[in-house]
Amino acid sequence: MMNGAQYVESLKKLKPTIFYRGKRLDDPYGHRALAPHVRTAAATYDLAVGGQHDEIMTATSNLDGAKISRFTHLFWSVDDLIRKIAMLRLIGRETGTCFQRCVGLDAINALWSVTYDVDKAKGTEYHPRFRKFLARLQREDLMSAGAMTDPKGDRSLAPWQQADPDLYVHIVDRRPDGIVIRGAKTHITGAANSHEIFVMPTLGLPPEGADYAVACAVPIDAPGLTLVFGRQSNDERKEEDGTIDCGTEWGVVGGESTLIFEDVFVPTERVFMDGEGEFAGALVDRFSAWHRANYGGCKGGNADVLLGATALLAEIHGTIKNSIVRDKLTEIVHLVETNFAGAIGSSALGKRLPAGNWLVDPLLANTVKQNVTRFVYQVGRLTHDIAGGLLSTLPSDADFQSSEVGGLLEKYFAGKQGFSTEDKRKLCRYIEGMTSVSTLVEALHGAGSPQAQRIVMLRQADLPEKTRQAKKVIGLGKGK
Ligand code: SF4
Repeated sequence: MMNGAQYVESLKKLKPTIFYRGKRLDDPYGHRALAPHVRTAAATYDLAVGGQHDEIMTATSNLDGAKISRFTHLFWSVDDLIRKIAMLRLIGRETGTCFQRCVGLDAINALWSVTYDVDKAKGTEYHPRFRKFLARLQREDLMSAGAMTDPKGDRSLAPWQQADPDLYVHIVDRRPDGIVIRGAKTHITGAANSHEIFVMPTLGLPPEGADYAVACAVPIDAPGLTLVFGRQSNDERKEEDGTIDCGTEWGVVGGESTLIFEDVFVPTERVFMDGEGEFAGALVDRFSAWHRANYGGCKGGNADVLLGATALLAEIHGTIKNSIVRDKLTEIVHLVETNFAGAIGSSALGKRLPAGNWLVDPLLANTVKQNVTRFVYQVGRLTHDIAGGLLSTLPSDADFQSSEVGGLLEKYFAGKQGFSTEDKRKLCRYIEGMTSVSTLVEALHGAGSPQAQRIVMLRQADLPEKTRQAKKVIGLGKGK
């Protein structure tokens, strides 16, 4: 396994094409826009080495028995599913933000199970091919991103009906030694600092959409692949690193990119689905179920830091003993632990798939994510309520450093004795960053928008069975 420094060094050997604010980045991993996200992903490596968190951060490969990072592991039992949630909470607490690497982990598990199913049904050879690829990923401890969401153009039209057929990634050429893909994927978490990108279809596809049913692995620096790193609220604060206004060294949310594939050649050994659209829906559903359950872990860890920061700020304000403030803090605990319980519950009720890995309970997993679309906003509101208007009006670090007004600001922004104004400002900037627009929108739409969960929830709830039960319990249909 690599440590964080080795991971960063391994990235520097790559030559990806990454644009940010109109310019191609010569040194993307050292650039202030990406560096906080690289640091956060590096934490997933550092926490896995050194032995302190072995039980949670590492696993034994079911492929060759080697000790590996849990981020490259197949979920081989209920215990693995539960330990994954524990891992996400741990890293969420250590970094206070999205650490990006779980998307690739869930993609690995989705591809492992679906390639098995496709081979069984159609006599293809995707599964042994994927197994070989995964063995390398585990051996080299690579970071992979999962690229599922296409730009989608006119959403009332199917992929092949779009005015521009490239609005969904599709196969434009099939050669004896591989395929050529074109299109784009967007909102892709951690892609810019991953070694490999798993391209996956975004929806189930009928036979006429076969060219859009493509799953494959593309190296981050593949010829023809261009990344455009997205903006986030307050992202210019990253330019102020070394100042308090920067907020956090870990970055806010996951560092998302748009990926543009301009006739990218993918060799056969990296192709895991080529036209089997009837299996694309299962791939999306399984990937989504695993990823939606995650949010009860990672967001719980993030909220642990937010809760601590908010309580500290209340102490500086001198309000921590106020029963109303304590009740609001209790409400944060209630929201976070409710959702953590859902994530653990969806793991505990997991079921074994034919390929051998275990899938979380989809109803509970989707309910976890549905809760996140509300709870993260509610937690943010409570932190704003306790922190006060200072969150949005606090003068800049430069003003506090000014020889003319700095002393006055120090005097008038002082809190309870024994606490520095600097710490007070740091807490405000952290809470501001972790509850601002990018964070909230990520909670709403990451791993699928709220309605996507509700569709699965209603399907999984099995209304016909419940109406039968109601009839039985209430004794309907016995009268004349
Ligand atoms: Fe992982 Fe959570 Fe970030 Fe998704 S949002 S990649 S589950 S840390």
